[in-house]
Amino acid sequence: MRGEGRPGAQDRLRAAIAALVLFALIMAGFWAASIRMRETNAERVRARLTTQMSVNAHTLSSAVSSRFALLSGLHEFVTVSLPEGPSRAEFDIFASGLYSGSQGIRAIQVAPKGIVSLVYPLEGNVTGNNLLTDARPEVADDVRRTLASSWIVISGPYELKQGGLGLVGRQQVRTPQGEFWGFTIIVLDVPPVLEEAGLSEAPPGTRFALRDDHGRVFAGEAQVFDDSPVTFPIALPDGEWTLAAVPAAGWEDASRDGLPLLWGTGVVIAVLLSALLYTGLTYQSRLRAEIDRQTRMLTEQRDLVAAVAETSPIGILVVDASSGAVTFANAAAERVLGVDRADIIGRTYDDPRWGVERGEGGPLPVQELAAARVIATGAAVHDIRHPIELPDGTRGLLSVNAGPITSPDGSPTAVVITVVDITEEYREHEELVRHRDRLESLVEERTRDLAAANEELDATNEELQAANAELEVSLSELERLNAELVKASNAKNEFLASMSHELRTPLNSVIGFSDLMLSGMVGKLTPEQLKQIGMINSSGKHLLDLINGVLDLSKIEAGQLKLDSVPVDVHRLVLGTVATLGPLAEAKGLVLSAEVDDECGTVVSDETRLRQVLINLAGNAIKFTDEGSVTVRAKCVSDELVIDVIDTGRGISAVDLPRIFDEFYRGADAVASSAEGTGLGLAVSRGFIEQLGGRIAVTSTPGEGSTFSIHLPLVRP
Ligand code: ADP
Repeated sequence: MRGEGRPGAQDRLRAAIAALVLFALIMAGFWAASIRMRETNAERVRARLTTQMSVNAHTLSSAVSSRFALLSGLHEFVTVSLPEGPSRAEFDIFASGLYSGSQGIRAIQVAPKGIVSLVYPLEGNVTGNNLLTDARPEVADDVRRTLASSWIVISGPYELKQGGLGLVGRQQVRTPQGEFWGFTIIVLDVPPVLEEAGLSEAPPGTRFALRDDHGRVFAGEAQVFDDSPVTFPIALPDGEWTLAAVPAAGWEDASRDGLPLLWGTGVVIAVLLSALLYTGLTYQSRLRAEIDRQTRMLTEQRDLVAAVAETSPIGILVVDASSGAVTFANAAAERVLGVDRADIIGRTYDDPRWGVERGEGGPLPVQELAAARVIATGAAVHDIRHPIELPDGTRGLLSVNAGPITSPDGSPTAVVITVVDITEEYREHEELVRHRDRLESLVEERTRDLAAANEELDATNEELQAANAELEVSLSELERLNAELVKASNAKNEFLASMSHELRTPLNSVIGFSDLMLSGMVGKLTPEQLKQIGMINSSGKHLLDLINGVLDLSKIEAGQLKLDSVPVDVHRLVLGTVATLGPLAEAKGLVLSAEVDDECGTVVSDETRLRQVLINLAGNAIKFTDEGSVTVRAKCVSDELVIDVIDTGRGISAVDLPRIFDEFYRGADAVASSAEGTGLGLAVSRGFIEQLGGRIAVTSTPGEGSTFSIHLPLVRP
């Protein structure tokens, strides 16, 4: 892909070359202009210099000429005084007049016969010199020239004998007879003359040189003549000088005047125009690249839209708003309408072949068609549902949406129509409606049932409320009965507690006396008497046991049992129990043994009650064991004192096992074998142990034996 809207390297190169060519052309133009300008400048400078220096030249010429004009006066003055010539006094008067009237005159001299004899002023000047015999070449030559001429002859400028640059004008004087008489001479100082002409130094902005007619440069710079100067002839009474001048900066520089500005302007204009050209050209190629890019993007988007439309499951049609003809249709439209695309394209939206119908049958009026409505109003329409008869004769239901594509002025240029076949959906909808109706009737039916059930419930509720009221009455009756029971129970306890003494005292007498009679200490008894008294004795003991048991239980129930907390030596407790019951076991031929864990040592408990429980358990074991052994084993396991009473007796049946701790409960065997017992021993034992904070448990296998275990918290003194 080409750069996004940016000119390519080639375009930039082309633009750069064009800009460079333009730059070069503009610079060439300015170069030609600069040459022309230099020429014009040079001419102007020369003209200006000519004007400027011509004044100096003219002034110099007249300054020299006017001074040497005095020589004519002097010549006349001498000529009229011939043949003697003027006296010194006459000369002095005349010469002083000349001298004071004109600056720059060094000396005025008269030389009769060539001898300089009259000199004014005298100071600084030499007299007596004979010019005719003077050997100095410049003098001899000039004298010769003077003698050959009747007019002024000027010599110099040269260094004067008196010092300084001077100019000497001479004229020969002849007698009226035409004979040589002598010379009249005026010596001029050159510097004042130059000053008068403004040439004592170079005029501003110039260099100059003055050359005499011998080619000698006597003022300014000699090389000015080599620099193609402006020249001026300085006409003198005798001969001619040449004044030459050039610009102080030289012709080259002077003619450059204004050139830097011209070049500067040229460069600026060239750069600006080249840059403008470059920018213009690159902008043009950037525009071209941007147009390419936009075109590509549009093409891609058009392809994308076409692909999306083609794969859309919804039928899409585009209708031209002015002709009403379909201009586009996608694959789904073919499918939904059941018409080939070739037949769709070009067909107008109101063509009767579409088979669009009204809900109640018959063709749909044209103005109600979606496309017609959008064209008429310019607004979109949504979910218009039409039945339709497809070309193959089947009928269906369409959901139609349509919206306008508008021109910039807002009028619709085309209409986009989407068509969806909702036949199936409609059928499902109908089915749902049917289901809903059925559900509604079901709900109504159930509601009716519920109302009936509710009424029944209300009736039951009322009955319940009545029963409840009765119950409340019974409850208060029960509470009253309960209170009476509590009262009765308390009365029973009080009775038992108070009666124990009353009962036990006579019983003890009965038992004591019968024991005494049975022992034969009060006289010999007949066998019948022995039997009867023996029965009295055992009945008495049984009754005492019963009373003791009932008393213990009633104390436990009434919470009146008082427990001791004393140090108990476990070893002694167990051995004491075994010793007490030893004779009983022995009588039945049983082995009674004790095993005590050494670690048990001393614990804190109620020794009396503990012994009573142990005797009870071990007594039961001996009572219900016919052969084998009874073992009492004490051990201390973690925080517990555990005492097991193990026998090898008849065991306890599964029927009896859960009930043997109940008050007055005696096992079936015990009752059948008419073994002695009250059915209170285990109940009392459990009461004691629970009061001591422990529990009592039993395991038994009928025919093999039983094990009763006491678990007590281990409290050390
Ligand atoms: P009893 O005075 O009848 O011994 P207990 O409360 O001491 O009353 O015992 C209740 C019943 O538990 C006994 O009648 C007996 O059936 C049963 N029983 C108690 N200990 C044993 C034992 N070691 N072996 C077999 N049965 C026993």
